[in-house]
Order: sequence, then C-alpha cells, then structure tokens
Amino acid sequence: MSKVFLVTGGAGFIGSAVVRELINNSDTRVVNVDKLTYAGNLESLASIEGHERYHFVQADICDAQVMQGLFEKYKPDVVMHLAAESHVDRSIDGPAAFIETNIVGTYILLEAARAYWIALKGDYPEKADRFRFHHISTDEVYGDLHSLDELFVETTPYAPSSPYSASKASSDHLVRAWQRTYGLPTVITNCSNNYGPYHFPEKLIPLIMLNALAGKPLPVYGDGEQVRDWLYVEDHARALIKVAQEGDVGETYNIGGHNEKRNIEVVHVLCALLEEMAPEKPEGIERYEDLIAFVKDRPGHDLRYAIDASKIEADLGWVPEETFESGMRKTVRWYLDNQEWCRHVQDGTYQRERLGDYA
Ligand code: NAD
Repeated sequence: MSKVFLVTGGAGFIGSAVVRELINNSDTRVVNVDKLTYAGNLESLASIEGHERYHFVQADICDAQVMQGLFEKYKPDVVMHLAAESHVDRSIDGPAAFIETNIVGTYILLEAARAYWIALKGDYPEKADRFRFHHISTDEVYGDLHSLDELFVETTPYAPSSPYSASKASSDHLVRAWQRTYGLPTVITNCSNNYGPYHFPEKLIPLIMLNALAGKPLPVYGDGEQVRDWLYVEDHARALIKVAQEGDVGETYNIGGHNEKRNIEVVHVLCALLEEMAPEKPEGIERYEDLIAFVKDRPGHDLRYAIDASKIEADLGWVPEETFESGMRKTVRWYLDNQEWCRHVQDGTYQRERLGDYA
C-alpha cells in the first residue's frame, strides 16, 4: 500500500514544491492541510489538482479538534510540517500571528500526532515504528554570522534575531522536547533561503524581477551587503522528502546550497539575466540596473547566513542538482512564462478560491 503523507502548508512556496514532487515522482498519497492565508495559493498546485492521490483540506493547524480528526481520518505514515507565517518583515509589523501559528500551531499538531501515534502503537505497532513527524525549519534560528569562514552546523547554538526566527526556534525546541519526553519519532531540518518558481512576490528574488519588468524601483535593504545561502526550491523539496523517509529519529539535518551571495549580487545577476531574456523594457528604462534603489535597512537585519550541509550529504546522500546559475536561469524563465500566476497574486484574484469547501 502506498504511504500517506500529511503535509501542512502545502499551498505555500516550499510546501507546494513538496506536494508536486510527491505526486509526480512517488506513489504516495498526499493530504495537504492548509489554512490558505495570504501566502497560500492553490494556483501553485493547478498541475496536480484532481489527481487521485491528492487531497486538499482547508484547515487551521491551531484547531486541535480538526487536527485530531484529520489524523484519525487519513492515518498518515509521515507528517511534513511546513505551515507557518514565514515573512520576517511581517513578523516585525505584527508578531501575533507568528506566535499563534508557528508556536501554538506546532504544539497543537504535536499533540494531535502524539495521541494518534500512541493509538497506533496499540493497533498497528509496525506502522507506529515507521511513523515520522518531520518539522521543517530555517537556518535563521541560528542568528547570524560575523566572520567569513564560519558556517552553521546542526549543533550551532540558537540565537534568533527576529520575531519570525524566534517563533521558529521555539517550535524546533517543542519538537525536540516531544521526541525526548514522549518518544514521538520526530526529525527536524533547518534550511537556508529558498528561491524558484511560485515564490510570493514580497520576497527578494520575485520582487526584484517583477518590479524590473514593470519599470519600478528595485528596493535593496541598507547597503545590500547581507549574505544569504541560496537553495533552489525543488532541491529543497527533494531533500525534505529524503529526510522524511530516511532521516534518523531525533536527528537534525541542515540543508543548504553552497551558494553564498550578497543581496546586491543577487540583484545584479537578476538584472543581467533579464537583460538577456527580456530585453524589451518599459518605456524610458535603459538598463534594469538603473532601477536599483537602496532603502532603509530592516531593524535587526542579520548580516550573514551560511549552512554546512555536510551531514545530510554524508548520511543521506543528498546533494543539490542545481547550481546558483542554473537555478536562477530556470527561475527567471519560469516568471517570464507564468505572468498570469504573477498577475493573479498581484491583483489578489488568487485568493478567490479560499471560501470554497475543500474538506
Ligand atoms: P509560505 O509563507 O510560502 O507558506 C506557508 C503556508 O502555510 C501557506 O500556504 C499558508 O496558507 C499556510 N499556513 C499559514 N498559517 C497556517 C495555519 N495556521 N494553518 C494551516 N496553514 C497555514 O512559506 P514557505 O516559504 O513555503 O516556508 C515553508 C516552511 O519552510 C516554513 O515553516 C518556513 O519557516 C520554512 N523555511 C522557509 C524558507 C524560505 O526560504 N522560504 C527557508 C527555510 C525554511
């Protein structure tokens, strides 16, 4: 029998890549549980909608009764927990939703999983042994690095800087505690910045591309010297599925792309690719680079993140398939070819489906 994966946040940027990968390249059944906040977009799943192994449930992970019911109904073999509030700027303007979904929501999901797993141990002990709760987290829990030769490893102490990263750090601690205290078979991954298709246009890479194509200023925080380690989203999805299936209980795996770039470098790469792939510019614009505009830095902005991904490479044999160059080229091509997806996000029509009954 094919396994059942319960994926939370599967209508988001990374979650939708995971769901597409599971449906297209495995025989698993996928139950996608997503509240459809502003970040959830069912149009990102249009290619697999209606697939017989795919089910969508619109629900809030903070609703304990509903979560318990979903475990009882679908009897998952694996939980991949990606649902979260994920945008640092939004966490600075309004941290409440981050505390609620990222901390309380993770707690509620852990408790629902624990009750289900205890019942499973009585009824189906072999299935209980194979059960995994995979919590998907970020490298931002480690804070930032100030020297160029340091890397985040799995044992780097937590030192989050923003309400977002503090809420993710809290959720990681809860997951670890549920493993140590109750024996729940959990595994955690901490990943660097993702980029690629279906990325919500408030994040750096899609924002720069869409603004450039519209002839609008390209906002770069501070001096643009912040370093991020970029990973193509489909490489992340493949890593996550490997960890969910082969990762050792109680372990943490860092995931990264060995692609450290300063934000300003990323913006220059995008401008160069657009010059080549979209040479016709809006009236009055000579070079996309002329649109770069440095803006006031974000408070508490981390300087440098960089991941040491050698553990997942050595233990599970995962390596990214894309280089920064190939991944960026694919990303720009995707945004140029999928202007309708972008338009629907920008004009809000992507949210029209969210009142429907999908349960
Ligand atoms: P996203 O914001 O694109 O998607 C989050 C999804 O969660 C959305 O579909 C949203 O509707 C859903 N959601 C939010 N609150 C919910 C709730 N209460 N109940 C059910 N669903 C809810 O996020 P993303 O970029 O895809 O990130 C997914 C996960 O990966 C997050 O946990 C994030 O912390 C982590 N992560 C992201 C990155 C990155 O670069 N984007 C890097 C490392 C780790």
